Amino acid sequence: MEIIYQQNPLTTKIILNEEEKTKIWYKIKEETLIQLLFSTHYEFLKHNYDITKVNIEKVKKILDPNYYIEEPIDNETTKRFQWYMEELESEHSGDCTACAYTCPKCQVENMLEIDTINGLSKDMASKINTLFTENKDLTIEQAIEILKDDHNKIPDESFINVWKDKGGWEEFIPQFKKENDNLIDWLTNYKETKLIKK
Ligand SMILES: [Zn+2]
Repeated sequence: MEIIYQQNPLTTKIILNEEEKTKIWYKIKEETLIQLLFSTHYEFLKHNYDITKVNIEKVKKILDPNYYIEEPIDNETTKRFQWYMEELESEHSGDCTACAYTCPKCQVENMLEIDTINGLSKDMASKINTLFTENKDLTIEQAIEILKDDHNKIPDESFINVWKDKGGWEEFIPQFKKENDNLIDWLTNYKETKLIKK
């Protein structure tokens, strides 16, 4: 497995060799089979193992290796596998960046037992996402400089209005600064440990 870090930490690429890809394919198939077994287990469990009530046709269907919604399980596995492989080269977006849906890239990284954004909070990842969306060619040094400048900025009116009801934005300055500092530290560490040319 090769991990290629980028200027934007949310877009780290993960390259697998053929053997690793084969293992992932079987891991996906295994997960699917476990889910199917849970379904049949539930069919027995919900009737308290009273075999007169169990829907045996349903159980037979689920345990049929060619059953998986509409496709045989191997086809379904290959589809999911291809989707996972695309995610390995795409970017984090979803729960990990404070957007309310699961992040497919995090799912794939979990499966590989790696975490390329270790220590990054949702708010920090969201901020990184905003910075690199505003400027696709941004370097990590530039991102850090922007964050340092933010310390001295007076927020615009819409921002001040948002915080009015909560007691005014001035009250939150120490908290904003602390969060900003945490992100600067994280990015600096990322730059020094992941991006330094070997
Ligand atoms: Zn993610």
